[in-house]
Amino acid sequence: PVDIAGPVEQTLRTYQLNARDKGIELVQEISPKLPPVLGHYDLLLQVFDNLVGNALKFTESGGRVVIRAYPLEANPNPNHPDEIPQVRVEISDTGIGIDWEDQENIFDRFFRVENRVHTLEGTGLGLSIVRNIVEKHHSRVYLVSEVGIGTTFWFNLDVCTEKDQSIEQPSEDHPNREGLPLQRS
Ligand code: ATP
Ligand code: MG
Repeated sequence: PVDIAGPVEQTLRTYQLNARDKGIELVQEISPKLPPVLGHYDLLLQVFDNLVGNALKFTESGGRVVIRAYPLEANPNPNHPDEIPQVRVEISDTGIGIDWEDQENIFDRFFRVENRVHTLEGTGLGLSIVRNIVEKHHSRVYLVSEVGIGTTFWFNLDVCTEKDQSIEQPSEDHPNREGLPLQRS
């Protein structure tokens, strides 16, 4: 089980100075009493690192980047009484945005939007890694973006139930990156 606040705090520590230098406000809005999610700390940290890094890279001075996490309204569905509660995670920026035509390609390896800001560093791998990691968590990444307005990336993670708490996490000495403890028993 991962407390989302952990990787979020660590990401804020990593980027706070960078954000201040660029004149961008970097904040978190984590719901109080957010339940732990089923996931892998180091991998989720990579997701936040990539998405927040991108948000800062593609946002101009005076902008704002927000990391948000909140429980999704439990929607009691009589057809699916055991539906697993989820947490939504969002990374929003007020940056340059992504064209509609480019949006379907940005998760491809080495894809970078042409004709702009190619003074900005990058290989085009970050989002393909993000997509892979979120898929390992049996979920998907989505985005909403408008050129000149900004971008929001979001995904849902399953809340860790009491039963899942007993699933063993890989230890520091034997990190098992393939056999992730993400499968429900
Ligand atoms: P790397 O992550 O390997 O350093 P990168 O940041 O260019 O390089 P990705 O993170 O995969 O690569 O992103 C792919 C492309 O998607 C970026 O080059 C950029 O054109 C676009 N993009 C990603 N995030 C944003 C964002 N928040 N706002 C605007 N464009 C974005
Ligand atoms: Mg990137």
